Amino acid sequence: MKLEHFPKEIQAHLIPKPSGQMIYRCLNCASEFDIQKLLYTCPDCGHVLLIHDQQHARLKQIAPEQWRRIFDYRRMLTIPALKGIYRYHEFIGPVIPLESVVYLGEGHTPVIEANQGLQRAAGARFFYKNDGQNPSASFKDRGMASALSYIHFLITSGKASEVLAVCASTGDTSAAAALYASYLRPHVKSAVLLPHKKVTPQQLSQPLGSGAKVYEIPGVFDDCMKVVEALSDQYEVALLNSKNAWRILGQESYSYEIAQEFEYEMADKVVFVPIGNAGNITAVMSGFIKFFEVGLIADLPKIIGVQSHHADPVYQYYREEQPAKRRFVPQTVRASVAQAAMIGNPVSMPRVIQLVQRYNEMAGRSRVHFVQVREQEIMDWQLQANRNGHVACTHGGECLAGLRRAVDLGLVAKNETAIIDSTAHALKFSGFQDLYFENQFPQEFEVQPDSSLINRPAYVHPKELEQVPAPGRPLTGQAFERFVQKVTEAIAQDLKLTRKE
Ligand SMILES: *Cc1c(COP(=O)(O)O)cnc(C)c1O
Ligand SMILES: [Zn+2]
Repeated sequence: MKLEHFPKEIQAHLIPKPSGQMIYRCLNCASEFDIQKLLYTCPDCGHVLLIHDQQHARLKQIAPEQWRRIFDYRRMLTIPALKGIYRYHEFIGPVIPLESVVYLGEGHTPVIEANQGLQRAAGARFFYKNDGQNPSASFKDRGMASALSYIHFLITSGKASEVLAVCASTGDTSAAAALYASYLRPHVKSAVLLPHKKVTPQQLSQPLGSGAKVYEIPGVFDDCMKVVEALSDQYEVALLNSKNAWRILGQESYSYEIAQEFEYEMADKVVFVPIGNAGNITAVMSGFIKFFEVGLIADLPKIIGVQSHHADPVYQYYREEQPAKRRFVPQTVRASVAQAAMIGNPVSMPRVIQLVQRYNEMAGRSRVHFVQVREQEIMDWQLQANRNGHVACTHGGECLAGLRRAVDLGLVAKNETAIIDSTAHALKFSGFQDLYFENQFPQEFEVQPDSSLINRPAYVHPKELEQVPAPGRPLTGQAFERFVQKVTEAIAQDLKLTRKE
Protein backbone atom coordinates (compact mmCIF):
# COMPACT_ATOMS: atom_id res chain seq x y z
CA MET A 1 0.00 0.00 0.00
CA LYS A 2 1.19 3.50 -0.82
CA LEU A 3 1.96 6.02 1.90
CA GLU A 4 -0.86 8.43 0.97
CA HIS A 5 -3.46 5.67 1.47
CA PHE A 6 -2.67 5.10 5.14
CA PRO A 7 -4.69 6.91 7.83
CA LYS A 8 -3.41 10.44 8.41
CA GLU A 9 -2.42 9.89 12.04
CA ILE A 10 -0.30 6.88 11.02
CA GLN A 11 1.40 8.51 8.02
CA ALA A 12 3.57 10.73 10.22
CA HIS A 13 5.05 7.69 12.01
CA LEU A 14 5.11 5.14 9.23
CA ILE A 15 8.52 5.89 7.74
CA PRO A 16 11.01 6.25 10.61
CA LYS A 17 13.65 8.96 10.47
CA PRO A 18 16.98 8.63 12.28
CA SER A 19 16.44 9.42 15.96
CA GLY A 20 17.67 8.54 19.41
CA GLN A 21 21.08 8.71 21.04
CA MET A 22 22.78 5.33 21.12
CA ILE A 23 25.81 4.52 23.26
CA TYR A 24 27.74 1.46 24.35
CA ARG A 25 27.42 0.77 28.06
CA CYS A 26 29.72 -1.54 30.02
CA LEU A 27 27.87 -4.18 32.03
CA ASN A 28 30.53 -4.12 34.71
CA CYS A 29 31.64 -0.52 35.35
CA ALA A 30 28.71 1.24 33.60
CA SER A 31 31.08 3.45 31.58
CA GLU A 32 29.53 4.75 28.40
CA PHE A 33 31.19 5.04 25.00
CA ASP A 34 30.42 6.67 21.68
CA ILE A 35 29.20 4.32 18.93
CA GLN A 36 31.23 6.09 16.22
CA LYS A 37 33.96 3.51 16.82
CA LEU A 38 33.24 -0.22 16.77
CA LEU A 39 33.77 -1.56 20.28
CA TYR A 40 33.31 -5.10 21.61
CA THR A 41 34.58 -4.82 25.15
CA CYS A 42 34.92 -1.99 27.63
CA PRO A 43 38.17 -0.06 27.05
CA ASP A 44 38.26 0.64 30.81
CA CYS A 45 37.66 -2.79 32.32
CA GLY A 46 37.41 -5.30 29.47
CA HIS A 47 33.86 -6.52 30.13
CA VAL A 48 31.11 -6.98 27.55
CA LEU A 49 28.89 -4.11 26.41
CA LEU A 50 25.30 -3.55 25.45
CA ILE A 51 23.94 -0.70 23.35
CA HIS A 52 21.42 1.66 24.91
CA ASP A 53 19.34 4.41 23.44
CA GLN A 54 19.64 7.23 25.95
CA GLN A 55 16.42 8.69 24.59
CA HIS A 56 14.50 5.40 24.76
CA ALA A 57 11.95 7.05 27.07
CA ARG A 58 10.84 9.29 24.18
CA LEU A 59 9.11 6.23 22.71
CA LYS A 60 6.59 6.45 25.57
CA GLN A 61 5.26 9.66 24.02
CA ILE A 62 3.45 7.45 21.55
CA ALA A 63 0.65 5.45 23.19
CA PRO A 64 1.06 1.64 23.15
CA GLU A 65 -2.12 1.31 21.09
CA GLN A 66 -0.65 3.68 18.50
CA TRP A 67 2.62 1.71 18.36
CA ARG A 68 0.70 -1.48 17.69
CA ARG A 69 -1.12 0.17 14.82
CA ILE A 70 2.15 1.55 13.42
CA PHE A 71 3.68 -1.94 13.35
CA ASP A 72 0.55 -3.46 11.86
CA TYR A 73 0.39 -0.83 9.15
CA ARG A 74 4.11 -1.20 8.39
CA ARG A 75 3.31 -4.78 7.37
CA MET A 76 1.56 -3.35 4.32
CA LEU A 77 4.48 -1.24 3.09
CA THR A 78 6.62 -2.34 0.16
CA ILE A 79 9.77 -0.48 1.25
CA PRO A 80 12.57 -3.10 1.51
CA ALA A 81 14.25 -1.45 4.52
CA LEU A 82 11.04 -1.89 6.53
CA LYS A 83 10.24 -5.43 5.42
CA GLY A 84 12.64 -7.14 7.81
CA ILE A 85 13.76 -6.51 11.37
CA TYR A 86 13.61 -2.73 10.91
CA ARG A 87 9.84 -2.82 11.03
CA TYR A 88 10.78 -2.15 14.67
CA HIS A 89 13.36 0.50 13.71
CA GLU A 90 12.82 2.68 16.78
CA PHE A 91 13.59 -0.27 19.06
CA ILE A 92 16.45 -1.85 17.09
CA GLY A 93 18.61 0.84 15.53
CA PRO A 94 16.95 4.25 15.52
CA VAL A 95 20.16 6.08 14.55
CA ILE A 96 20.47 4.11 11.30
CA PRO A 97 18.92 5.83 8.26
CA LEU A 98 16.77 3.53 6.13
CA GLU A 99 19.13 4.04 3.14
CA SER A 100 21.82 2.16 5.08
CA VAL A 101 19.63 -0.80 6.01
CA VAL A 102 20.74 -4.10 4.50
CA TYR A 103 17.68 -6.27 3.88
CA LEU A 104 18.16 -9.79 2.52
CA GLY A 105 14.82 -11.27 3.53
CA GLU A 106 15.43 -11.85 7.23
CA GLY A 107 12.86 -11.84 10.00
CA HIS A 108 9.09 -12.38 10.19
CA THR A 109 9.61 -16.12 10.18
CA PRO A 110 6.60 -18.44 10.26
CA VAL A 111 4.92 -19.35 13.54
CA ILE A 112 3.41 -22.81 13.13
CA GLU A 113 1.04 -24.46 15.58
CA ALA A 114 1.83 -28.11 16.20
CA ASN A 115 -0.86 -30.65 15.36
CA GLN A 116 -2.98 -32.19 18.11
CA GLY A 117 -0.96 -35.39 18.33
CA LEU A 118 2.34 -33.61 18.85
CA GLN A 119 0.83 -31.17 21.36
CA ARG A 120 -0.51 -34.13 23.32
CA ALA A 121 2.92 -35.77 23.28
CA ALA A 122 4.59 -32.56 24.44
CA GLY A 123 1.95 -31.99 27.10
CA ALA A 124 1.23 -28.39 26.15
CA ARG A 125 -0.18 -26.16 23.43
CA PHE A 126 2.75 -24.95 21.37
CA PHE A 127 3.97 -23.26 18.22
CA TYR A 128 7.29 -23.57 16.45
CA LYS A 129 8.83 -20.32 15.29
CA ASN A 130 10.86 -21.35 12.25
CA ASP A 131 13.96 -19.21 12.31
CA GLY A 132 15.53 -21.67 9.91
CA GLN A 133 13.47 -19.91 7.25
CA ASN A 134 15.78 -16.89 7.35
CA PRO A 135 18.01 -16.31 4.26
CA SER A 136 21.06 -18.24 5.51
CA ALA A 137 18.74 -20.69 7.29
CA SER A 138 19.29 -19.63 10.89
CA PHE A 139 18.31 -16.85 13.31
CA LYS A 140 21.84 -15.40 13.06
CA ASP A 141 20.64 -13.37 10.05
CA ARG A 142 18.66 -11.12 12.41
CA GLY A 143 21.83 -10.04 14.19
CA MET A 144 23.85 -9.78 11.00
CA ALA A 145 21.24 -7.55 9.34
CA SER A 146 21.69 -5.19 12.30
CA ALA A 147 25.50 -5.37 12.52
CA LEU A 148 26.03 -4.99 8.77
CA SER A 149 23.44 -2.21 8.46
CA TYR A 150 25.40 -0.28 11.07
CA ILE A 151 28.71 -0.97 9.32
CA HIS A 152 27.07 0.12 6.05
CA PHE A 153 25.98 3.33 7.78
CA LEU A 154 29.57 3.95 8.95
CA ILE A 155 30.76 3.46 5.37
CA THR A 156 28.11 5.65 3.73
CA SER A 157 28.73 8.42 6.26
CA GLY A 158 32.48 8.30 5.62
CA LYS A 159 33.45 6.99 9.06
CA ALA A 160 34.80 3.70 7.72
CA SER A 161 36.01 2.58 4.32
CA GLU A 162 37.53 -0.87 3.88
CA VAL A 163 36.08 -3.22 6.50
CA LEU A 164 37.29 -6.73 7.16
CA ALA A 165 34.61 -8.53 9.15
CA VAL A 166 35.67 -11.58 11.17
CA CYS A 167 33.87 -14.12 13.32
CA ALA A 168 34.30 -17.43 15.06
CA SER A 169 31.46 -19.81 14.50
CA THR A 170 29.78 -23.08 15.29
CA GLY A 171 28.63 -22.82 11.65
CA ASP A 172 25.66 -20.51 11.42
CA THR A 173 27.30 -17.23 12.46
CA SER A 174 29.85 -17.61 9.67
CA ALA A 175 27.15 -18.50 7.14
CA ALA A 176 25.20 -15.37 8.05
CA ALA A 177 28.25 -13.09 8.34
CA ALA A 178 29.63 -14.19 4.98
CA LEU A 179 26.24 -13.72 3.30
CA TYR A 180 25.61 -10.20 4.60
CA ALA A 181 29.23 -9.12 4.05
CA SER A 182 29.13 -10.37 0.46
CA TYR A 183 26.17 -8.09 -0.22
CA LEU A 184 28.36 -5.10 0.70
CA ARG A 185 31.16 -6.00 -1.70
CA PRO A 186 33.67 -4.49 -2.28
CA HIS A 187 33.58 -2.31 0.84
CA VAL A 188 33.26 -5.24 3.24
CA LYS A 189 35.21 -8.49 3.09
CA SER A 190 34.83 -11.33 5.53
CA ALA A 191 36.95 -14.02 7.14
CA VAL A 192 35.47 -16.78 9.30
CA LEU A 193 37.08 -19.18 11.77
CA LEU A 194 35.54 -22.59 12.27
CA PRO A 195 36.46 -25.48 14.55
CA HIS A 196 37.82 -28.16 12.19
CA LYS A 197 35.24 -30.94 11.57
CA LYS A 198 32.84 -29.40 14.11
CA VAL A 199 30.49 -27.80 11.62
CA THR A 200 28.24 -29.63 9.19
CA PRO A 201 29.15 -29.86 5.46
CA GLN A 202 26.16 -27.64 4.66
CA GLN A 203 27.37 -24.98 7.08
CA LEU A 204 30.90 -25.14 5.69
CA SER A 205 29.60 -24.73 2.14
CA GLN A 206 27.78 -21.51 3.03
CA PRO A 207 30.68 -19.09 3.74
CA LEU A 208 32.69 -20.75 0.94
CA GLY A 209 29.83 -20.05 -1.47
CA SER A 210 29.57 -16.45 -0.28
CA GLY A 211 33.24 -15.91 -1.05
CA ALA A 212 34.54 -15.48 2.51
CA LYS A 213 38.04 -16.50 3.58
CA VAL A 214 37.41 -19.65 5.61
CA TYR A 215 39.89 -20.85 8.25
CA GLU A 216 39.50 -24.15 10.04
CA ILE A 217 41.15 -24.29 13.47
CA PRO A 218 41.89 -27.31 15.67
CA GLY A 219 39.73 -27.53 18.80
CA VAL A 220 36.18 -26.44 19.56
CA PHE A 221 34.29 -23.17 19.20
CA ASP A 222 35.63 -21.75 22.48
CA ASP A 223 39.17 -22.00 21.01
CA CYS A 224 38.14 -20.23 17.78
CA MET A 225 36.51 -17.52 19.86
CA LYS A 226 39.77 -16.82 21.70
CA VAL A 227 41.60 -16.42 18.38
CA VAL A 228 39.08 -13.93 16.91
CA GLU A 229 39.09 -12.04 20.21
CA ALA A 230 42.88 -11.73 19.90
CA LEU A 231 42.49 -10.69 16.24
CA SER A 232 39.96 -7.98 17.08
CA ASP A 233 42.04 -6.76 20.05
CA GLN A 234 45.24 -6.45 18.04
CA TYR A 235 44.14 -5.63 14.49
CA GLU A 236 41.72 -3.40 12.60
CA VAL A 237 38.84 -5.80 12.02
CA ALA A 238 35.10 -5.74 12.69
CA LEU A 239 34.08 -8.57 15.00
CA LEU A 240 30.73 -10.10 14.07
CA ASN A 241 30.24 -12.50 16.98
CA SER A 242 27.41 -11.78 19.38
CA LYS A 243 30.03 -10.14 21.58
CA ASN A 244 29.31 -7.31 19.13
CA ALA A 245 26.32 -5.64 20.77
CA TRP A 246 24.78 -4.71 17.39
CA ARG A 247 24.10 -8.40 16.88
CA ILE A 248 22.04 -8.49 20.07
CA LEU A 249 19.92 -5.53 18.94
CA GLY A 250 18.99 -7.25 15.69
CA GLN A 251 18.12 -10.48 17.43
CA GLU A 252 15.67 -8.64 19.69
CA SER A 253 13.38 -8.64 16.64
CA TYR A 254 12.54 -12.25 17.51
CA SER A 255 10.71 -11.04 20.64
CA TYR A 256 9.00 -8.17 18.86
CA GLU A 257 7.67 -10.56 16.23
CA ILE A 258 6.31 -12.93 18.86
CA ALA A 259 4.58 -10.02 20.59
CA GLN A 260 3.01 -8.80 17.35
CA GLU A 261 2.09 -12.31 16.17
CA PHE A 262 0.21 -13.02 19.40
CA GLU A 263 -1.55 -9.64 19.55
CA TYR A 264 0.74 -8.50 22.37
CA GLU A 265 -0.89 -10.93 24.84
CA MET A 266 2.14 -12.25 26.71
CA ALA A 267 0.74 -13.15 30.14
CA ASP A 268 0.14 -16.79 29.20
CA LYS A 269 3.11 -17.31 26.85
CA VAL A 270 6.26 -19.32 27.46
CA VAL A 271 9.17 -18.70 25.10
CA PHE A 272 11.76 -21.50 24.73
CA VAL A 273 15.26 -20.84 23.39
CA PRO A 274 18.34 -23.06 23.16
CA ILE A 275 21.49 -21.59 24.70
CA GLY A 276 25.00 -21.72 23.24
CA ASN A 277 27.01 -18.50 23.43
CA ALA A 278 23.89 -17.00 25.11
CA GLY A 279 23.51 -14.12 22.66
CA ASN A 280 20.07 -15.26 21.63
CA ILE A 281 18.56 -15.53 25.11
CA THR A 282 20.14 -12.16 25.94
CA ALA A 283 18.40 -10.59 22.96
CA VAL A 284 15.09 -12.31 23.68
CA MET A 285 15.01 -11.01 27.27
CA SER A 286 16.19 -7.55 26.24
CA GLY A 287 13.56 -7.29 23.49
CA PHE A 288 10.65 -8.17 25.75
CA ILE A 289 11.93 -5.74 28.39
CA LYS A 290 11.97 -2.88 25.87
CA PHE A 291 8.41 -3.55 24.71
CA PHE A 292 7.33 -3.85 28.34
CA GLU A 293 8.93 -0.52 29.28
CA VAL A 294 7.05 1.30 26.54
CA GLY A 295 3.83 -0.50 27.43
CA LEU A 296 3.48 -2.42 24.16
CA ILE A 297 3.11 -5.57 26.22
CA ALA A 298 1.43 -5.49 29.63
CA ASP A 299 3.20 -8.65 30.85
CA LEU A 300 6.59 -10.23 30.38
CA PRO A 301 6.29 -13.76 28.99
CA LYS A 302 7.96 -16.66 30.76
CA ILE A 303 11.32 -17.54 29.19
CA ILE A 304 12.91 -20.97 29.41
CA GLY A 305 16.50 -21.53 28.30
CA VAL A 306 17.38 -25.07 27.23
CA GLN A 307 20.79 -26.76 27.31
CA SER A 308 22.09 -30.23 26.53
CA HIS A 309 23.71 -32.24 29.33
CA HIS A 310 26.84 -32.20 27.12
CA ALA A 311 27.15 -28.38 27.19
CA ASP A 312 25.17 -26.86 30.06
CA PRO A 313 27.21 -24.19 31.92
CA VAL A 314 24.25 -21.79 32.11
CA TYR A 315 21.89 -24.45 33.42
CA GLN A 316 24.49 -25.48 36.03
CA TYR A 317 24.92 -21.87 37.14
CA TYR A 318 21.20 -21.45 37.80
CA ARG A 319 20.83 -24.81 39.53
CA GLU A 320 21.95 -23.01 42.66
CA GLU A 321 18.75 -21.41 43.91
CA GLN A 322 20.36 -18.70 46.01
CA PRO A 323 21.71 -15.91 43.79
CA ALA A 324 24.48 -15.00 46.24
CA LYS A 325 25.87 -18.53 46.11
CA ARG A 326 25.90 -18.87 42.30
CA ARG A 327 29.28 -19.26 40.67
CA PHE A 328 29.93 -19.50 36.96
CA VAL A 329 32.18 -22.40 35.97
CA PRO A 330 33.23 -22.69 32.30
CA GLN A 331 32.87 -26.21 30.97
CA THR A 332 34.71 -28.58 28.73
CA VAL A 333 31.98 -29.51 26.26
CA ARG A 334 31.20 -32.99 24.96
CA ALA A 335 29.93 -34.02 21.52
CA SER A 336 26.44 -32.65 20.89
CA VAL A 337 23.88 -32.96 18.12
CA ALA A 338 22.89 -29.42 19.11
CA GLN A 339 26.27 -28.57 17.68
CA ALA A 340 25.66 -24.84 17.23
CA ALA A 341 25.12 -24.62 20.98
CA MET A 342 28.15 -26.72 21.95
CA ILE A 343 29.77 -23.93 23.96
CA GLY A 344 31.30 -24.22 27.41
CA ASN A 345 32.16 -20.59 28.10
CA PRO A 346 29.38 -18.37 26.73
CA VAL A 347 30.55 -14.86 25.92
CA SER A 348 27.19 -13.36 26.92
CA MET A 349 27.05 -14.94 30.38
CA PRO A 350 27.49 -11.55 32.17
CA ARG A 351 24.63 -10.18 30.07
CA VAL A 352 22.44 -13.16 30.98
CA ILE A 353 23.14 -12.77 34.69
CA GLN A 354 22.24 -9.10 34.64
CA LEU A 355 19.18 -9.45 32.41
CA VAL A 356 17.68 -12.44 34.23
CA GLN A 357 17.76 -10.44 37.44
CA ARG A 358 16.28 -7.36 35.78
CA TYR A 359 13.62 -9.40 33.98
CA ASN A 360 12.46 -11.09 37.16
CA GLU A 361 12.47 -7.80 39.05
CA MET A 362 10.37 -6.08 36.40
CA ALA A 363 7.94 -9.01 36.30
CA GLY A 364 7.76 -9.04 40.08
CA ARG A 365 8.26 -12.82 40.11
CA SER A 366 10.48 -15.51 38.73
CA ARG A 367 9.91 -15.52 34.96
CA VAL A 368 13.16 -16.97 33.55
CA HIS A 369 14.00 -20.64 34.00
CA PHE A 370 16.54 -23.10 32.68
CA VAL A 371 16.16 -26.77 31.89
CA GLN A 372 18.56 -29.47 30.83
CA VAL A 373 17.84 -32.22 28.29
CA ARG A 374 19.72 -35.31 27.12
CA GLU A 375 21.23 -35.80 23.66
CA GLN A 376 18.90 -38.76 23.18
CA GLU A 377 15.85 -36.60 23.86
CA ILE A 378 17.08 -33.90 21.48
CA MET A 379 17.30 -36.36 18.58
CA ASP A 380 14.07 -38.21 19.41
CA TRP A 381 12.04 -35.01 19.70
CA GLN A 382 13.55 -33.46 16.58
CA LEU A 383 12.63 -36.52 14.51
CA GLN A 384 9.21 -36.65 16.14
CA ALA A 385 8.59 -32.97 15.30
CA ASN A 386 9.60 -33.41 11.69
CA ARG A 387 7.34 -36.46 11.31
CA ASN A 388 4.54 -34.07 12.24
CA GLY A 389 5.04 -31.38 9.65
CA HIS A 390 7.92 -29.30 11.00
CA VAL A 391 11.37 -28.47 9.64
CA ALA A 392 13.11 -28.34 13.01
CA CYS A 393 16.89 -28.50 13.35
CA THR A 394 18.45 -30.36 16.26
CA HIS A 395 18.22 -27.18 18.37
CA GLY A 396 14.53 -27.07 17.55
CA GLY A 397 14.45 -30.65 18.84
CA GLU A 398 16.32 -29.47 21.92
CA CYS A 399 13.64 -26.82 22.52
CA LEU A 400 10.84 -29.34 22.18
CA ALA A 401 12.62 -31.73 24.54
CA GLY A 402 12.96 -28.72 26.84
CA LEU A 403 9.22 -28.06 26.65
CA ARG A 404 8.49 -31.66 27.62
CA ARG A 405 10.95 -31.40 30.50
CA ALA A 406 9.47 -28.08 31.66
CA VAL A 407 5.95 -29.58 31.58
CA ASP A 408 7.17 -32.49 33.71
CA LEU A 409 8.77 -30.07 36.16
CA GLY A 410 5.54 -28.08 36.46
CA LEU A 411 7.09 -24.99 34.84
CA VAL A 412 4.35 -24.77 32.21
CA ALA A 413 0.75 -24.36 33.37
CA LYS A 414 -2.31 -25.90 31.66
CA ASN A 415 -3.52 -22.60 30.23
CA GLU A 416 -0.12 -21.54 28.89
CA THR A 417 1.05 -21.59 25.27
CA ALA A 418 4.67 -22.22 24.36
CA ILE A 419 6.57 -20.70 21.44
CA ILE A 420 9.63 -22.79 20.75
CA ASP A 421 12.57 -21.76 18.62
CA SER A 422 13.75 -23.85 15.70
CA THR A 423 16.89 -21.76 15.38
CA ALA A 424 18.04 -23.24 12.07
CA HIS A 425 16.68 -25.30 9.19
CA ALA A 426 16.54 -29.09 9.52
CA LEU A 427 18.63 -29.49 6.34
CA LYS A 428 21.72 -27.91 7.90
CA PHE A 429 21.88 -30.74 10.42
CA SER A 430 20.60 -33.64 8.33
CA GLY A 431 23.90 -35.45 8.96
CA PHE A 432 22.73 -36.19 12.51
CA GLN A 433 19.50 -37.62 11.13
CA ASP A 434 21.63 -39.85 8.86
CA LEU A 435 23.70 -41.05 11.83
CA TYR A 436 20.49 -41.87 13.68
CA PHE A 437 18.80 -43.67 10.79
CA GLU A 438 21.98 -45.61 9.98
CA ASN A 439 22.68 -46.34 13.65
CA GLN A 440 26.16 -44.89 13.26
CA PHE A 441 26.35 -42.43 16.14
CA PRO A 442 29.80 -42.45 17.72
CA GLN A 443 29.59 -43.54 21.37
CA GLU A 444 30.43 -40.07 22.72
CA PHE A 445 27.05 -38.66 21.61
CA GLU A 446 25.16 -41.16 23.79
CA VAL A 447 22.37 -41.54 21.25
CA GLN A 448 20.70 -44.91 20.63
CA PRO A 449 18.24 -44.91 17.74
CA ASP A 450 14.61 -45.72 18.56
CA SER A 451 13.69 -48.18 15.80
CA SER A 452 10.20 -46.72 15.46
CA LEU A 453 11.74 -43.42 14.34
CA ILE A 454 14.22 -44.86 11.84
CA ASN A 455 13.47 -44.31 8.17
CA ARG A 456 15.58 -45.63 5.30
CA PRO A 457 15.17 -45.62 1.53
CA ALA A 458 14.29 -48.96 -0.09
CA TYR A 459 16.08 -49.87 -3.31
CA VAL A 460 13.68 -51.45 -5.79
CA HIS A 461 15.28 -53.73 -8.36
CA PRO A 462 13.19 -56.86 -8.88
CA LYS A 463 15.41 -59.91 -9.37
CA GLU A 464 13.68 -61.10 -12.50
CA LEU A 465 14.47 -57.87 -14.36
CA GLU A 466 17.36 -58.50 -16.75
CA GLN A 467 17.45 -54.94 -18.03
CA VAL A 468 17.14 -51.67 -16.10
CA PRO A 469 17.66 -48.11 -17.36
CA ALA A 470 20.80 -46.16 -16.49
CA PRO A 471 21.83 -42.53 -17.04
CA GLY A 472 22.50 -42.17 -20.78
CA ARG A 473 21.18 -45.70 -21.46
CA PRO A 474 17.37 -45.48 -21.50
CA LEU A 475 15.24 -48.58 -22.09
CA THR A 476 12.75 -48.68 -24.95
CA GLY A 477 9.88 -50.80 -26.21
CA GLN A 478 9.01 -54.04 -24.42
CA ALA A 479 12.01 -53.95 -22.13
CA PHE A 480 10.89 -50.55 -20.81
CA GLU A 481 7.26 -51.66 -20.36
CA ARG A 482 8.43 -54.72 -18.46
CA PHE A 483 10.63 -52.58 -16.24
CA VAL A 484 7.77 -50.17 -15.41
CA GLN A 485 5.36 -53.03 -14.66
CA LYS A 486 7.73 -55.05 -12.49
CA VAL A 487 8.79 -52.05 -10.41
CA THR A 488 5.16 -50.95 -10.06
CA GLU A 489 4.19 -54.41 -8.77
CA ALA A 490 7.08 -54.51 -6.34
CA ILE A 491 6.14 -51.13 -4.82
CA ALA A 492 2.42 -51.98 -4.73
CA GLN A 493 3.21 -55.23 -2.95
CA ASP A 494 5.43 -53.50 -0.42
CA LEU A 495 2.75 -50.87 0.30
CA LYS A 496 0.03 -53.59 0.31
CA LEU A 497 -2.05 -51.59 -2.17
CA THR A 498 -5.50 -52.73 -3.24
CA ARG A 499 -5.94 -53.26 -6.96
CA LYS A 500 -8.58 -51.02 -8.64
CA GLU A 501 -11.83 -52.82 -9.66
C1 LIG B 1 24.05 -19.91 17.34
C2 LIG B 1 23.03 -20.93 17.43
C3 LIG B 1 22.45 -21.30 18.65
C4 LIG B 1 22.91 -20.74 19.96
O1 LIG B 1 22.60 -19.37 20.08
P1 LIG B 1 23.45 -18.46 21.07
O2 LIG B 1 23.06 -17.09 20.76
O3 LIG B 1 24.89 -18.73 20.74
O4 LIG B 1 23.10 -18.89 22.43
C5 LIG B 1 21.44 -22.24 18.65
N1 LIG B 1 21.01 -22.80 17.51
C6 LIG B 1 21.55 -22.49 16.32
C7 LIG B 1 21.05 -23.18 15.11
C8 LIG B 1 22.57 -21.55 16.23
O5 LIG B 1 23.10 -21.27 15.04
ZN1 LIG C 1 33.83 -1.40 32.03
